[in-house]
Amino acid sequence: MYERLIPSSDPPSARIEPAWWYIFTAHSLMVVEEGLSISIPLIADPASLGILPIRERYLGTLAGRHCYCAEVAENDPVPLKMGFYGLRYLYGRLAEPLYAIAIKAVHLIEWERATRYCGHCSKEMAPARGMNARECSVCGMLAFPRISPAVIVLVERDGQVLLARGQGFTADFFSVLAGFVEPGETLEDTVHREIEEEVGIKVRNVRYFGSQPWPFPDSLMIGFTAEYLSGEIRIDKTEIIEAGWFDPGKLPTVPGKISIARRLIDWFIETRLQEKTPVETYGGRSSDPGE
Ligand SMILES: [Zn+2]
Repeated sequence: MYERLIPSSDPPSARIEPAWWYIFTAHSLMVVEEGLSISIPLIADPASLGILPIRERYLGTLAGRHCYCAEVAENDPVPLKMGFYGLRYLYGRLAEPLYAIAIKAVHLIEWERATRYCGHCSKEMAPARGMNARECSVCGMLAFPRISPAVIVLVERDGQVLLARGQGFTADFFSVLAGFVEPGETLEDTVHREIEEEVGIKVRNVRYFGSQPWPFPDSLMIGFTAEYLSGEIRIDKTEIIEAGWFDPGKLPTVPGKISIARRLIDWFIETRLQEKTPVETYGGRSSDPGE
């Protein structure tokens, strides 16, 4: 059965039943390791593991079980059979419904840490009543979880896809272009501006593809496809190392399966290779889960 978190800000009055506890330190999540299986601790209270969180937050329920997230100090001892791992590593290793909650949990716990004090009067903030926000105890300013939208775009020209190697990539691979939305822009404005800035070309027929929460630290990636209109590739060297048009059967190394970038590229390969026969597999290997 496909299960999702039912969000709530109304925790149970007592911690008696086992609950899913998402416990983070320095962006890493604590998981239970038993043989090859990896899961989230199912415990009534972190105190049972000798853990005293710095901060914690109730998330809601998953299939009737309560879910919490918490942060512990970096130098706290790690309980037996537990380990801390980054969310990129845990992708594909943790069951999907549990992983989806981890994405939300890390975003919220990071936001709680970043909004301890009011940005207006610098006094302490506390959870606001009845809404997913934090409120200043003195001036009443509200802080909502920050989500930074970014577009990610697959551009196609005569059956080839535009891929680029970015200056900021942690590994050596090519991907589709992406960029943050600036104040005052529509998503379509961002698509046109980013592509023109980064590779000097114009596009048309911008179409929505899908989206993905990307809590590294607080993005929402909004995917689009577009068609080449005009211009020749002229890269912005502050952002891009190299860029080019690639055949679906001869792609370089592309991002890992975790990202919407890879979903866009896989979609392109599937749809374009179906139009050609015989079916080829693409030449590049996949990088580790990354951007
Ligand atoms: Zn204030």
